[in-house]
Amino acid sequence: MPKLRLIGDAHGDEKQGIYGPWDEYIAHAQGAEQSLMVGDLDFVYSRILVLDPEKHKVIAGNHDNYDKSSCASCNGHGCAACSHRGYVFCQQTPHFLGDYGLWTPPSFTEPLFYLRGGYSIDKHHRLARGFGWWPEEELTYQQAMRALQFYAEHKPRIVVTHAAPKTVKHALFTDNVEIQSSATEEVLDQMWQLHQPDMWFFGHYHRTWEDMLTPETGGGSTHFRCLDILEAYDLTI
Ligand SMILES: [Zn+2]
Ligand SMILES: [Zn+2]
Repeated sequence: MPKLRLIGDAHGDEKQGIYGPWDEYIAHAQGAEQSLMVGDLDFVYSRILVLDPEKHKVIAGNHDNYDKSSCASCNGHGCAACSHRGYVFCQQTPHFLGDYGLWTPPSFTEPLFYLRGGYSIDKHHRLARGFGWWPEEELTYQQAMRALQFYAEHKPRIVVTHAAPKTVKHALFTDNVEIQSSATEEVLDQMWQLHQPDMWFFGHYHRTWEDMLTPETGGGSTHFRCLDILEAYDLTI
């Protein structure tokens, strides 16, 4: 049975030299035929080059590097690759998937839908220290609306995103009724209300959690699964 290893947030930038998140991430990926990490990898990606970019992919989170300095193809003017993957991904490694879309892991026969980004609750801390925050951490309104339309057209069975729909976040944090939702969580919720995939995986909240949920307005059920930091989960289809 084809298997895809999903890997939770690494946060290589935060723990360098203390915890070895890169060692753990690479070991998880190399232990699997194919893998997908759900975001917040790091700000420097030289170590990922040991992994085959056809088999090991990354969805960008809110703690990834969105610096726009060196798209080799167009130097920031916008090229075909930019419009397909999103501008900042042209200068990242080929392991990065773009803003949103479909990816079929090499041994799968069906694609999964992905969408990057999320809101940094520690934005002010990151701005104060002078690095590690980018306005591109969430899709723009226009990008999000295009993503919503794309999702509605393709009605995927498997979804992997960095953040989770608003409703799911509320189910995850039942202990906090005051919890705020980000633009990303709102648009993911609109997607879920529109069409319920069988499975939906995400990271961002740094917890191991799962539940089967149905929208209040009715429809099908989705098995949601949150991955903790560097947690590995083998999805078999
Ligand atoms: Zn994270
Ligand atoms: Zn995150």
